[in-house]
Amino acid sequence: MAEKKWLKKPAEFGQCRSFQHSWPKLNKRGAKHFIEVQGGAAVIRLECVHCATVRISRIHLHTGQMSSYYEYPVGYLLKRANKKEKLPSKGVLRKEFLNYLRR
Ligand SMILES: [Zn+2]
Repeated sequence: MAEKKWLKKPAEFGQCRSFQHSWPKLNKRGAKHFIEVQGGAAVIRLECVHCATVRISRIHLHTGQMSSYYEYPVGYLLKRANKKEKLPSKGVLRKEFLNYLRR
C-alpha cells in the first residue's frame, strides 16, 4: 500500500505543485553567489522560496540557449510503491490543496 503522503499532507508542496515554483528575484547584488561561469556558459542556481527545489540553469554565453534541471527536496517527487499504483494527476493534487485551503 502506498504511503500517499501527498494525501495526508496536501499543504506540503501544494503551492508549488499547483502554481509552480517561485524563484527569488535576480539582481546584480549577490549575483556572484548564484551565477558561476563554467566553460562557455553561465550556470545559475536558484532555490524556490517555498519548497527549496533547486533549479540549475545553464545559459550559453554566446548563443543564449538555456538548459535546466531540478533538484527536488525529499518528498516532493511522487513515487509509485509498485507498478500497479497510479500516481495522482496534477488536477487531483490541486483539488486536494484547494480543499486543504478551504477547510
Ligand atoms: Zn517550490
